[in-house]
Amino acid sequence: MGPHGLVNGVPVLYTWHTQFARGMAVGAIRKSLKAIAKTAFASLLPREVFNHEADMNTLRELFRTYVRTVEIENHSYCNRTCSFCPNAQIDRHSGNTRMADTIYNKILRDLELIGYSQTLVWSRYHEPLADESIYDRIAEARKRLPQAYLKIISNGDYLNPYALERIQAAGLNRLAVDLYLPDGKERDPSAIRSGLEQFLTRTGLEIVRVSDYSFRCEGTKVNITVVIPFFTAANTCTRGGLVEVKELNQYQRTSPCFRPLDSVTVDYTGKCVLCCMVRSDSPHHQEAVLGDLNNPDYTLYHFYRDLAPARRSLLAPGPKLGVCKSCTWATCTSKMVWRPKAAALAARIPGFHSAFRSAVKRASRIRELEVS
Ligand code: SF4
Ligand code: SF4
Repeated sequence: MGPHGLVNGVPVLYTWHTQFARGMAVGAIRKSLKAIAKTAFASLLPREVFNHEADMNTLRELFRTYVRTVEIENHSYCNRTCSFCPNAQIDRHSGNTRMADTIYNKILRDLELIGYSQTLVWSRYHEPLADESIYDRIAEARKRLPQAYLKIISNGDYLNPYALERIQAAGLNRLAVDLYLPDGKERDPSAIRSGLEQFLTRTGLEIVRVSDYSFRCEGTKVNITVVIPFFTAANTCTRGGLVEVKELNQYQRTSPCFRPLDSVTVDYTGKCVLCCMVRSDSPHHQEAVLGDLNNPDYTLYHFYRDLAPARRSLLAPGPKLGVCKSCTWATCTSKMVWRPKAAALAARIPGFHSAFRSAVKRASRIRELEVS
């Protein structure tokens, strides 16, 4: 039995078919609304966003308005070599190189200049908690960027009560643990039980189930979640062509991408790369290494300027090339593109772009990476 309703004044019983169709319709409407909102957003971006000759003051303002995530590596080492990660082919295991203090200080200095209040995340192709220096570096970031949201993405292998105490004392806001189970066991109930038990015994944490494969930890000031990833052809990505996904061999991306607008990514070497997929230690990705903080005169804002051509091509219609060709990350309808005519029209309306920027800044207070 389902709930009752009226159709043309006649009482009907909704079957599960009706409810299913309604659910699908709501999902489709939501998806379309999201695509329309993104199209509008992309088209109304000010011209300076695409200008690779913008001056430093403009670039700082653009960075403050549009960048949501600064993603860095603290060092090179990861203790794992997961089969779905480029680390299975590129060695991040046999040695460890820390990001130089000069580079780290430059990143903090640049972010300090604009009172950066978005996410600074240690992630990418290293295990952040594997190197002692991470605790002092979080504490330094906390001191110099009091408004920033400090986050680590970790495989959880180094997490124990002492490490927890230290990340808490250092001022980390968020720890997202990806609990990797052996290949082929990711959805095996006994492997999940045993993986979680080991994690809880080692850390002393308690967890609350959020959904089948995600959990929230209790008993700590840091917001900690545990997710059990399971990568399939449908939800994985080639990491800029570095990981073979048979089903994507013929894939050609046409969908736009906002990454070069809303994020900046720096390797442990200080090299500035197109996005979180790209790594400067791969010969196949050299065309997507766009800047270098080792150059004394080069700052995060120069890098944001140097992302302008990528923003132009990635928000425009048409096939995406290079490392983006096989990337399935955050794809959506290809109608969602930057429309220069709409942008030019909007630019003629007095005060439009300052109102647009304040709206973007207000909206950015909602931290998209946060989960309950
Ligand atoms: S733990 Fe993360 S960074 Fe390390 S190999 Fe696995 S996926 Fe890559
Ligand atoms: S399309 Fe993929 S590879 Fe290209 S910038 Fe976006 S996330 Fe990075």
